[in-house]
Amino acid sequence: MICKQVSKRFVKPPDWWTPPPAEVATPSLRKPDIPCFTDRKTNESRLCVRCMEEQAKEEEEKRSAREKEEEERKSMGDAKARLAARRKRKARESNLAAAKKKKPA
Ligand SMILES: [Zn+2]
Repeated sequence: MICKQVSKRFVKPPDWWTPPPAEVATPSLRKPDIPCFTDRKTNESRLCVRCMEEQAKEEEEKRSAREKEEEERKSMGDAKARLAARRKRKARESNLAAAKKKKPA
């Protein structure tokens, strides 16, 4: 009742008005370690919606990072295999060259 009457008195600020800057810097609050929402009826704790969204985002970031790392590792394995093949080829070539050199002599 009182809320409705107060809300009726609310006047929209004019367009030119801008909210003043904060007097103190907004504190950087760390995230809670425990589930931050507790159901009053069941007394069960879980993460609030915002934290759940953040967690999902973090998990997605972690997953993409892991995938990227794996891809990198895979490509590195390819590089290793390529190097090994190149080493073998070079060894064979040098062996052939040595054999050719030996023949005429
Ligand atoms: Zn939360």
